[in-house]
Amino acid sequence: MWPRFSRETSAGTEDDFIADRQAMVDHQIADRGVRDPRVLGVMRTLPRHRFVPESAAAYAYQDRPLEIGSGQTISQPYIVALMTELLDLAPDDRVLEIGTGSGYQAAVLATLAKEVVTVERCEELGEVARERLKELGFDNVRVLVGDGTQGCPQYAPYDAIVVTASGPYVPDSLRHQLSDGGRLVCPVGPREAQRLVKVVRLGTTFAESESIGCVFVPLIGKEGWTE
Ligand code: SAM
Repeated sequence: MWPRFSRETSAGTEDDFIADRQAMVDHQIADRGVRDPRVLGVMRTLPRHRFVPESAAAYAYQDRPLEIGSGQTISQPYIVALMTELLDLAPDDRVLEIGTGSGYQAAVLATLAKEVVTVERCEELGEVARERLKELGFDNVRVLVGDGTQGCPQYAPYDAIVVTASGPYVPDSLRHQLSDGGRLVCPVGPREAQRLVKVVRLGTTFAESESIGCVFVPLIGKEGWTE
């Protein structure tokens, strides 16, 4: 499925990363309670080291976010797994992601769902992620540049929406781009610390529940924080 996995980096060959990747899933993700076998399966195979700068490839399977340039980060593997599990994806789902960053979360989603639209505010990151996803053979991801707090009405409705930056509240525009029964996961709270919030659309109402505490970079835009 991913034809060009075997690039060698200064940190090692693809083979060197296999054991690290299995340990990441076993100890950082499954041991903490993520159970969805599809989520665990994709994270066992997706080459996370291809989504970080080459100088950081050796750290790609560690239990932490990593810098990806432009002052932004690729999220901690456990958080990616948990948010994906909370989305409860089916193979025919159409998904919207806000905050493309490296493209890693988009790649996870694109492996589990039919189609992914991902919006990144930073043009440079968006372009790099688009190229990377293309190079890895993902043909079901559309990378757009803009303010994702407004969602992407052009391709709505979505069965699932994930926001990978934290806002003061769940943007109303995003709620209204969910299909009936659609799920949305977003970190919400003050800039220093937030909680993951899950919203499920039930006709004209929205059921909300809270998951774990977390710390994300800010969601900056019309329905987020000001810069
Ligand atoms: N999902 C990413 C990955 O797998 O690498 C990690 C995302 S990073 C934690 C958060 C991203 O959200 C940053 O790249 C940031 O530029 C972006 N961002 C912040 N506000 C945004 C907005 N209003 N619309 C789109 N992207 C935004």
